[in-house]
Amino acid sequence: MTTGRGEFALIARHFTRPTRRAVLGVGDDCALLALEPGMQLAVSSDMLVEGRHFVSTVAPERLGHKALAVNLSDLAACGATPLAFTLALALPRADEAWCAGLARGMFALADAHGIELIGGDTTAGPLNLCITVFGQVPPGQALLRSGARVGDTVWVSGRLGDARLALEAFRGSVALDREAFERTRQAMERPQPRVALGLALRGVASAAIDLSDGLVGDLGHVLARSHIGARIELQALPRSTDLSAQPTAVQQECLLAGGDDYELLFMAAADASEQVLAAGAKAGVAVSAIGRIEAAPGLRVVDGGGRMLDALPRGFDHFSP
Ligand code: ADP
Ligand code: MG
Repeated sequence: MTTGRGEFALIARHFTRPTRRAVLGVGDDCALLALEPGMQLAVSSDMLVEGRHFVSTVAPERLGHKALAVNLSDLAACGATPLAFTLALALPRADEAWCAGLARGMFALADAHGIELIGGDTTAGPLNLCITVFGQVPPGQALLRSGARVGDTVWVSGRLGDARLALEAFRGSVALDREAFERTRQAMERPQPRVALGLALRGVASAAIDLSDGLVGDLGHVLARSHIGARIELQALPRSTDLSAQPTAVQQECLLAGGDDYELLFMAAADASEQVLAAGAKAGVAVSAIGRIEAAPGLRVVDGGGRMLDALPRGFDHFSP
């Protein structure tokens, strides 16, 4: 292990590992990546800012996991195979233990997906991390937000709302017993990017997005991009027993506007249900049909009694009042 102080020692100690796949990794002016012939490069960045996306007390290992997970989730939503990532880091001080923890959480997830850290930037400043992920996808096969068609079934992976439920428990606005709190906290702090599902949905889904800002907001992006509307059945939204135990108003808020779910929301032709279920089985992820795409613009959410909710919670927006 390298000794010494300063920026370069920190990079050498915590963020430099031998590359296996990239042509050139950390240490030069650029990294070099070789795509398979004919593939398109899929690129996405996500930034995590202290006080905005996480609290200062979060364990660095969990932060490392989450920072990479939210980025991989974007590649998943695109149906891309992850290849590599870069890390831009602003740190108030050169905290060795903190960097080691961050690296542990990040590399554990990276290894699980067979990807490597190929470069980045390190600077002093308010705590902030920005990861950029690189993936590859065959031309014309990326899953886009713009592909949904009238009559398509709307699907979602996994379960919704637990991350928000944990956040509300942190804030003290809902009460959870210790086990329920630990379970939902896992959802908030250790989201599992649905990469395998995204790949299995290539050629099956007509459109896809990952759920980072809540179902209403993120589905709204697909509807706007695809110029269509949707009807969603509240009863069909998959939820944990911990969330089911909450009052209806809490359930609705967490399910519809939760945020931080990192599940895939996607559409597929009504006659493709078997293929969707097969993709879910192949990826080892539950998939649930939650509604239908309709021609009339806008989102309609219907409760168990067939009544339409008249006010929908909004998705998260950093710059809305
Ligand atoms: P430059 O000045 O050319 O931008 P730097 O001195 O910032 O390069 O970084 C030196 C090398 O270390 C580069 O290869 C860069 O990609 C890599 N690097 C810097 N910070 C990180 C980090 N946090 N994680 C991984 N690699 C990093
Ligand atoms: Mg630099």
